[in-house]
Amino acid sequence: MDRAYEILNLCYQSGDMEQTLFPVVLFGKKETVLVDCGYPGSLDMLVEQLYAHNIQPSALTRLVLTHQDDDHMGAAAELKEAYPAIKISASDIEAPYISGELKNLRLQQGEALQDKLPDDQKAFGEQFCGRYRRLRSVRIDEPLFPQTQFDWGGGCEVISSPGHTPGHISIRALDHSYMITGDAAVIEGKKLVVANPEYCLDPAQARRSLEMIVLYQCRRYICYHGGSFRK
Ligand SMILES: [Zn+2]
Repeated sequence: MDRAYEILNLCYQSGDMEQTLFPVVLFGKKETVLVDCGYPGSLDMLVEQLYAHNIQPSALTRLVLTHQDDDHMGAAAELKEAYPAIKISASDIEAPYISGELKNLRLQQGEALQDKLPDDQKAFGEQFCGRYRRLRSVRIDEPLFPQTQFDWGGGCEVISSPGHTPGHISIRALDHSYMITGDAAVIEGKKLVVANPEYCLDPAQARRSLEMIVLYQCRRYICYHGGSFRK
């Protein structure tokens, strides 16, 4: 049987902090689709991971971005530069923030918080905003709309899962075999929970999205933070 998808691992080390992110590659009849691509500067690691999973980077036809955060779209501009044939997609709501037409919402959130931060956290706040000011925007070639279905990954559907950001999307298999949650859900212990509620732009909406995700009762949830979780 043709493979439906592969889960990649991007590992980042800063000081004694380690972070692993889990982008996914979905295989379709005509398309090979990467879902999210890591922080800025991840191109080499991405390419290495693709080869490790027997995927030619030049075979990628599309990059789907679940939302505008830098751990998801940070390497999009460098990937597009290296492989210009890759089409970039995101929801129509996220698109203007990713392409730089509108100021990134995480930067707006960081700037609004900066004055309220206690003195010992101001440097961290500044660093966070600086990271977003340096973030390279990238043009969205084709917006994605909720409920659109594709043959990727054995047959899938784009679903709207707002809250973390207003136009966040997730991808579910039509046969319930998996869901790619993005940041609409992370694994904590053995449960799916809202990712970093303190970063949620709309926490009530994020909770509703999480409930919807759980209700789909997929056999496997692939979370960008935390990896894969089988029911
Ligand atoms: Zn994230």
